[in-house]
Amino acid sequence: MQNTATPTHCPYCALQCGMNLTPAADGTVEVTERADFPVNRGALCGKGRTAPAVLSSRVRLTSPLVRSGDGTLVPATWDEALDRIARHLARTREEHGADALGVFGGGGLTNEKAYALGKFARVVLGTSQIDYNGRFCMSSAAAAGTKAFGLDRGLPFPLEDIPRTGCVILVGSNLAETMPPSLRFFSELKENGGTLIVVDPRRTKTAEQADLHLAPRPGTDLALALGLLHLVVAGGRVDESYVEERTAGWEEARAAAMAHWPEQVERITGVSVPELREAVRLFCEPEHAMVLTARGPEQQAKGTDTVGAWINLCLATGRAGRPLSGYGCLTGQGNGQGGREHGQKADQLPGYRKLTDPAARRHVAEVWGVDPDSLPGPGRSAYELLDALGTDIRSLLLMGSNPVVSAPRAAHVEQRLRSLDFLAVCDVVLSETAALADVVLPVTQWAEETGTTTSLEGRVLLRRRAITPPDGVRSDLEVLHELAARLGVEKGFPTEAEEVFEELRRASAGGLADYSGITYRRLAQENGVFWPCPAREEAGEAEHPGTARLFLDRFATEDGRARFVPVSHRPSAEEPDDEYPVLLTTGRVVAQYQSGAQTRRVDELNAAAPGPFVELHPRLAARLGAAEGDPVAVVSRRGRAVAPARITTGIRPDTVFMPFHWPGEGRANTLTNPALDPTSRMPEFKVCAVRVEAVTR
Ligand code: SF4
Repeated sequence: MQNTATPTHCPYCALQCGMNLTPAADGTVEVTERADFPVNRGALCGKGRTAPAVLSSRVRLTSPLVRSGDGTLVPATWDEALDRIARHLARTREEHGADALGVFGGGGLTNEKAYALGKFARVVLGTSQIDYNGRFCMSSAAAAGTKAFGLDRGLPFPLEDIPRTGCVILVGSNLAETMPPSLRFFSELKENGGTLIVVDPRRTKTAEQADLHLAPRPGTDLALALGLLHLVVAGGRVDESYVEERTAGWEEARAAAMAHWPEQVERITGVSVPELREAVRLFCEPEHAMVLTARGPEQQAKGTDTVGAWINLCLATGRAGRPLSGYGCLTGQGNGQGGREHGQKADQLPGYRKLTDPAARRHVAEVWGVDPDSLPGPGRSAYELLDALGTDIRSLLLMGSNPVVSAPRAAHVEQRLRSLDFLAVCDVVLSETAALADVVLPVTQWAEETGTTTSLEGRVLLRRRAITPPDGVRSDLEVLHELAARLGVEKGFPTEAEEVFEELRRASAGGLADYSGITYRRLAQENGVFWPCPAREEAGEAEHPGTARLFLDRFATEDGRARFVPVSHRPSAEEPDDEYPVLLTTGRVVAQYQSGAQTRRVDELNAAAPGPFVELHPRLAARLGAAEGDPVAVVSRRGRAVAPARITTGIRPDTVFMPFHWPGEGRANTLTNPALDPTSRMPEFKVCAVRVEAVTR
């Protein structure tokens, strides 16, 4: 490997910031600015700057591990480990049927890995039981976007449009901590005279940047959106000609909104009527405006309806499918978007095709060289799959996820994982989940392999191999190739990412997420290509440029019109009562990422964010007699977590907040509620009822 800079992208969040990587003679890797990538223009957050620390073998697994007779994990050869996995998977299938095999993927896997994993589950194992942790990330927005627009792509426009719009309502997103380089777009919006409204129960660092901060009670932003739409109608601010020409279903949605009086919305949300009126004024006065949602509205048992309510607001005011206006979802995980486009999700085939669509099954089966009837149907969603471990599902292959920390009701999920007959985990470190496995396979990571990801903008990017992986590790693609061969499928699982991508192009051709016009050659020359991008070479035409902006002419529905979906407020799955009188909401901090499996191994990040905490209002702290830093216990119907108090007036007195990056005593997901949205099957991470207690030590 040469000591020259390789342009690539960060391994963590969906912003997929561009960076250069240069290997040094002492084995370290230097991250330098890559100013040519328009999304971050060289800026990186601390996670991106320190990402190479996880490449060091000091924190890595560099040998397969197998569970020995005395119950400990001991090093083994690759052949021993792979043979053991193949033997157990085959035995489970023989004894209990193919659906007793589960596959659980991750939103950080490249498109090629996600594609190969979906194909492996359906073709090699023959199981329907595959899903991924991206289900926890943005599936409610995906479901709402599909209902309204006929297509879900995180953002239907590039981030560079944000500074030129007139107003952005940012709902349940703390970008200042989750994607700091993206804040630049909002600063430029304000410099250009635009306004930023932030909807968040906490006065986060992002909310501090806002012109208007609305702080609804957790779980009530559906009512908030309905109240805003009510005022839009009452104030004569509906864009009647747009509604007439480009939408359907307005009357039902209008009636649902008119049933939510502003005063009633104030009682439900805690946001005052004057604040609601001001939000409507700021949103409606400029020519262009946007609504962007993130995990806040999405991770609720009514997440699909909540996002639908915000989309209705956009449609009624003519702010969708027009230049510099629209609704978008800020995807969280690095490849949360691409992961589900290409078959890792329980109900989807590559190209965003539906597993229940006979034509889609025929197309993909032909690319895979199998009988369409041999493809299983849709399986369980992520939490339901985890909940079935040890009962219906006896053996699990898990790739790039750490549900012991990141799943809701985590103590129960941990117990389900322990009850499996067999667990195999592919990871780069011994995560809390890998530590429970019967076999652990050490795999390559971002800078050591080539592959593509799809960012929150729908921009397909090439992550290039920049360094040689340590001895003893293999890529996930090699793992699937070897396991497929051991299970009798010799062909169809190449180990080179570009070869997998070439097949993915064919499998996605004609689908909603059409990647057939995207090639590694183009990705190496261009700063990403937006899907859909159909192939045109055969027709002798110029290459399709990709689709940076969706819906400008028509929406992706059969008649080209967007659909209003009538929605009404309903309470959260768990409301406070005498026993659990406080609401818990969870989220992230800037120096850690998701379950922390990687970032908790980086000294600099641990120094900045060493452990969990409970953020609470001074009034609640005074009631408990807790001072800053004192341990406090948060108790829900699912368990108890203890962490130091962090006292701030930036949170509502009826709410506490915990970040979810840590295992052990302070694990926030011990507490969270797995109540699922009926459409997206996304768990209600963002709100549950708890009590808070002082801890004497
Ligand atoms: Fe990486 Fe996201 Fe930080 Fe950018 S914002 S450097 S993509 S973690």
